[in-house]
Amino acid sequence: MVLPRSPLDKMKAQLQVMKFGGTSVGDAACIARTAQIIAKAARSRPCIAVVSAMSGVTNRLIDAAKRAAEGDTEAGAAIVAALRTQHDSALASLVSNDDARKAVREKMDDVLAEGRRLCDGTALLRELTPRTLDAISSLGERLSAPLVAAAVSELGVPSESVEATELIVTDAYHGGAEPLMDLTRAKSEARLRPLLAKEITPLVTGFIGASEDGKLTTLGRGGSDYSATILGAAMDAAEVIIWTDVDGVLTADPRLVPDAQTIPEISYREAAELAYFGAKVLHPKTLNPVVQAAIPVWIRNSFAPERPGTKITPHGRSIGGGVKALTAIRDVALISVGGPGIVGVPDVVGRTFSTTAELRANVLLISQSSSQNDICFIVSSADAAKTVEALRKEFAHDLAHHKVEHITVDPNIAIVAVVGENMRGTPGIAGKTFNALGRENVNLIAIAQGSSESNISFVVEEKAVKSALLTTHREFGLHNPAS
Ligand code: ADP
Ligand code: ASP
Ligand code: MG
Repeated sequence: MVLPRSPLDKMKAQLQVMKFGGTSVGDAACIARTAQIIAKAARSRPCIAVVSAMSGVTNRLIDAAKRAAEGDTEAGAAIVAALRTQHDSALASLVSNDDARKAVREKMDDVLAEGRRLCDGTALLRELTPRTLDAISSLGERLSAPLVAAAVSELGVPSESVEATELIVTDAYHGGAEPLMDLTRAKSEARLRPLLAKEITPLVTGFIGASEDGKLTTLGRGGSDYSATILGAAMDAAEVIIWTDVDGVLTADPRLVPDAQTIPEISYREAAELAYFGAKVLHPKTLNPVVQAAIPVWIRNSFAPERPGTKITPHGRSIGGGVKALTAIRDVALISVGGPGIVGVPDVVGRTFSTTAELRANVLLISQSSSQNDICFIVSSADAAKTVEALRKEFAHDLAHHKVEHITVDPNIAIVAVVGENMRGTPGIAGKTFNALGRENVNLIAIAQGSSESNISFVVEEKAVKSALLTTHREFGLHNPAS
């Protein structure tokens, strides 16, 4: 017997979580377009919107925080004044109702005053803790959410801004916090469901959360994508739509490969591999929360909402050639630990990776030669200096006795990854890739293939990234959507 669905079930079944990135809320005109998209969707189904800071704002905030830490006592006043002007001018052109404008201005004033105190305190102490940096970097989202909510309400669709500190509960790892899903689910349900029941569209700050004891955390740079899928999973949404400034997931970064094509459908695994190896269109952790519930995620262009975008689904849609897309990650460094003597040093591999794990350094690729003379691995540039320092400490004794001869770092490298689930059943992809690169004189520094065989990644010199991408893109016919 099929039971009739309750209104709550219906609401859950249709719920859409939409996220808008920095460029989609970059200025008044962009916010107006974004507000139209939200209002249109919210008229026909329940929606939760998640927004990033206006584009460039987070970078400027982090820069101000760092200057304050160096003792620049003007940094706080300067950034606060600039942000006030920028957000005020958008507010003036988006919201005509005086009361509504006043309410947003009051919220913004509170956030800006807090920002000023945080920067001034940092300058006074000349110290920037990860917690303070999170508090300062979060100001952009806390300013944009009330602005966008007012712009949506202006269109006759009631909307209320909600700070994600009230919804997303995380561990206390500042700068890259992880959600605690059960707690997040309970808090999000309690705060958001009543708004949805009243047909009010919640407008949530992306990028941020709070630890169990209420301290603001951030999910890592570009983390608003992750905020959207965390909320999608927590609220049992029917789908998550990530609105950005390109038509979807493309066969390569369009800034490097101009004839890259939009991929209509791609699997979770493929999209996750692309994100992990640097495709900025998705934060690397974006798909984690939605995999279990198989919630589809769309990537669409807020500047061209009529285009269909890319649908990310559990299995994607297979294509003949096997290779779906390419990606490159440039802000990385190659660290090598080695020397002929390491054969005799017990557990070099174990000690190396315990060290990186302790630092929470993200190891992107590992390669070890069979002679065991050398272990090399890649971490993001931000983690390189502290990783090398920690390894030199760990192996100090072995270095002194020449058992380990070097621990070196090469920052001028990049990883290029060739991604596609069907590569598994298609022989010769590695050969084809390396032949093409050989023809173009691209020197390969290291190669790795995951056991899932849905990606082959290789390390090249940084200056060769563009030609490696262009060559491989052509070799696999990715410029031709029919292939
Ligand atoms: P948002 O501000 O909306 O979060 P991002 O700048 O973080 O947007 O991500 C979108 C950008 O990702 C695009 O403008 C594009 O340059 C870049 N990008 C890199 N690789 C890809 C890819 N494979 N497909 C689409 N975009 C990509
Ligand atoms: N505003 C944050 C950043 O710039 C988060 C995001 O845009 O996703 O990193
Ligand atoms: Mg982004």
